[in-house]
Amino acid sequence: MAKPFASSTDLTEKTETLEVVADGVYALTAEGDPNVGVIEGEDFIVAIEARATPAAARDWLVKLREHTDKPVRYLILTHYHAVRVLGASAFDAQDIIMSNATAALVEERGEQDWASEFGRMPRLFKQHEEIPGLTRPSITFSNSYAIDLGGDRGRVDLQFCGRGHTEGDIVVWHEKTGTLFAGDLVEAQAALYTGDAFHFDWATGTLDKVKAYNAEHLIGGRGVDRRTAMRHRAAHKNGGTLKDAFEATHTALGPKFGHWPIFEHCLPFNVQRLWDEFDGIERPRIWTMERDREVWAQLQG
Ligand SMILES: [Zn+2]
Repeated sequence: MAKPFASSTDLTEKTETLEVVADGVYALTAEGDPNVGVIEGEDFIVAIEARATPAAARDWLVKLREHTDKPVRYLILTHYHAVRVLGASAFDAQDIIMSNATAALVEERGEQDWASEFGRMPRLFKQHEEIPGLTRPSITFSNSYAIDLGGDRGRVDLQFCGRGHTEGDIVVWHEKTGTLFAGDLVEAQAALYTGDAFHFDWATGTLDKVKAYNAEHLIGGRGVDRRTAMRHRAAHKNGGTLKDAFEATHTALGPKFGHWPIFEHCLPFNVQRLWDEFDGIERPRIWTMERDREVWAQLQG
């Protein structure tokens, strides 16, 4: 029997946990669902990631409000993926910050990504009809941007570390508490999604830079498995098919990572993207709902 598409039948609510990571630093984790965070300034807060819808964002803000009632001055979005950005309107942030590359991706493929992600994981799109449209930034930067938190709270440094999970990911560093929000560049006990990735940049220079922060608190926690790329390359060089590469990868990684959230969901898209890179396709092709289903049928069907 064919596997149901991506996470379309994953309808079980996850347990959400607000963690006080350090003094004035909060993270909401949810068993493999996208994490969000906040860093508290003297008179305002800096929010990191927005969740998929305003309703999902409000659930997070209700929990946060047990700890601080300061207004949201800045909302930082680490990359363009719909499940991280479309809840932005709930924050009433004075400014929304993205990298230049992410802002360009929103314009180029934000609409398609919204449709694709909604189809892949509808559970995250609570009350999706409230989404007012694509989320656009009021502040963008190419490499780094700093926010002074006021008082003795230090500052927040936003940094582009190179292409990785997408073309425009940034990390958010709070030196004072040694906390790094790494977005989807790093995952902990959840499968990596690499369908829009630059595998070779990510696995080398980009992750080296992330590691160099030597963070005491890393929101995330697993790197790219370089061995996966080797297996793909072998299948590609030996004139194998995409399906061969998929099966070899599944066989190799399944026993160790198969029980992690969204492993089956991610793998076909990840294998397809790495295959494209071996074919010399520099920038990720846009995932549309049609292409999502085509690749799924070919590999998981
Ligand atoms: Zn992502």
